[in-house]
This record gives sequence, C-alpha cells and structure tokens, in this order.
Amino acid sequence: MENINSLFEKTYEKIKEAKAIVLISHVNPDGDALGSSLSMYTILKKMGKKVSVFNVTKPLPQYLDFLPNFNKVTNKLPDNFDLMISFDCGSFDRLGIEEKPKFLINIDHHISNTNYGDINIIDSNAASTSQVVYNFCKYNNIEIDKESAICMYTALVTDTGSFQYESVNEKVFLMATDMVRAGVDVAFISKMLFQRDRLSRLRLLAKAYDTIEMCCDGEAIFAHVTKEMMEITGAIKDDTDTIVNSLRAIRTVEIACMLREDDEGIKVSLRSKNYADVSKIAEALGGGGHVRAAGATIKGEFDFEKVKEILKEYITKALKENK
Ligand code: 5GP
Ligand code: MN
Repeated sequence: MENINSLFEKTYEKIKEAKAIVLISHVNPDGDALGSSLSMYTILKKMGKKVSVFNVTKPLPQYLDFLPNFNKVTNKLPDNFDLMISFDCGSFDRLGIEEKPKFLINIDHHISNTNYGDINIIDSNAASTSQVVYNFCKYNNIEIDKESAICMYTALVTDTGSFQYESVNEKVFLMATDMVRAGVDVAFISKMLFQRDRLSRLRLLAKAYDTIEMCCDGEAIFAHVTKEMMEITGAIKDDTDTIVNSLRAIRTVEIACMLREDDEGIKVSLRSKNYADVSKIAEALGGGGHVRAAGATIKGEFDFEKVKEILKEYITKALKENK
C-alpha cells in the first residue's frame, strides 16, 4: 500500500476541493462506525462544507444516542454531492447503497477490507477507525474540537473493549490523552455506554445462556438467539451485540460463536481470545472482520444445527493453526 501519509495528504486535498460531502458507515453500525463518521461532521462543517452523515440502518442503536450530532444521521442520501467518505466498512456491499459515488474515500482498520474506494486508507494496526481519523487530523494539523473528540473517544472505547484488547498500545493511550485534553468526560461516556442497559437485554441474555453448547474440549462455545426469544423478551437486535463477548470470557474458551436468526439468514458472530484467527472463518462464510472479532450472515436454507456443523469444522481447523 501507498505510504499512509501521502494518502492523508491526498484525502485532505480532495476534502478541500469538495463542496458537499457524505460521511457513511457500515450497516448495523457500532460505536466505531457512528463515532468515526460523526467525528468528521463538526470538522468538515467548520471548513464550510455541506455535510451529510448517512447510515442505511433504521433505527440506529439507541445506546449511541449521546454522540454529538447523532440526530443528524440520516438514511436518505442527498441527491448531489462531490465526495463520499466511508468509515469502518470492510466491503462496499456493507454500505447499503446501490451505486458507486463519483469519488469514494475508504477509511478503515479491517484486515479484510476489499479496497473498494478511489482512495483507500486501511490501517489494520489501528485499534479503531477513529484512530485512523485521529492520525489523519494530526498529520494535517486539523484541530479536533470537543464534539469530535467525544465521537473519536467513544469509537476507541467500544472497539477496544474498554482498552482491553491486544490492539491497545502506547499510541492508543496517547490518543485517549488527547481526547481528554480536548474536553472528553471519561466517566460521562462510560455511563452513557455501560450504565444504560435494557432489562430486555438481560432477559435475552438468560435465554441465550440456556442454549450454550461447548465443543473442542471446551475451547469453543456456541449460543444462539431465535426470533421467538427476541419476541418473548422484547429484545431488539442491539441487545444481542455483546453476548458473544461474554461467552469468550469462559476460562477455557478460545473461540466463541453466537448465532442469531435474522430476516436475511443466520447472523454469525465470532470472537477469539489468544491465537485463533476468526476473520478467516468469517471470510470463508462470505463475511469478514478482524483476527479477534469477525462475522458473517449465512443466507439460504440453513438452520442452527447445520450452521454449527459447518462452523465446528472451521473452528477445529482454526484451533490447530497458530497455536
Ligand atoms: P459482530 O460480530 O460484532 O457483528 O462483528 C464483528 C466484526 O466483524 C466487526 O468488525 C464487523 O464489522 C465484522 N463483520 C460482522 N459481520 C460481517 C459481515 O457480514 N461481513 C463483513 N465483511 N464483516 C462483518
Ligand atoms: Mn471498527
């Protein structure tokens, strides 16, 4: 890949030239997707740009509603714009739009990114896409205001599991320091993210835990969530997001796997703890992600048992590799 600094320069030039810019992130957005795209909103506004923040998903996850300018996010693309910048999205189809825009800048940290943009800034060593945005701002001497910092920091916290993952290093903490300097209230963001849980999520968690199945000598764990379980508990899709992380927390587990019955098929969420590469498993299933967190949606006539069977094969292989 081209030197990242020259990509930062080219991107800044493109932004300066553009009048109307669309900021877009992946379907079913997480904290990094919305945080990194919204972090550019105030920055571009201050540069005098017309800015739209787009996400195809509706409704958006409620737990992120405290992000500055959250209410600006729309699921309608403007008719005219000169530049689109995508955030945290590994492949074009996950943007949820039909046509390739005039010019697309793809900013991401997924190792599986398909380089679908006209400019691709992919840093798979970055802990979050917001860290790539932060590096872009630092390189170009762009001031990061408080609203932007709140978005960048939230993205960083959510994508590092609150600074717990292997992606966390000195650079991550230096960025966090800068965010606090810019006015981020750490306790406030923690409360917004982690102290506003829904009762329905806990009730769903109990049901999902009831489906737990271990395999591979305790190194792999499965659980699933059906549409019926969602209906009974009143849970929503967001409520399933972190279940897979808690499965991984079991002492013996290397790979955790959560299956969810969706309209489009079976959504598979994979996590690993120490060495297994789950991005490879997700890619084999038509999805993607990171080494420690990946996912895919399996479409067609499959039930949980069939999907588990397929997964067990891949998981057994992944557990043997890189050990
Ligand atoms: P999650 O299990 O939380 O949905 O996703 C974990 C990681 O895998 C995220 O980084 C997410 O972007 C990626 N991911 C999840 N599902 C898909 C998918 O269907 N396709 C691709 N390319 N990546 C996915
Ligand atoms: Mn991310």
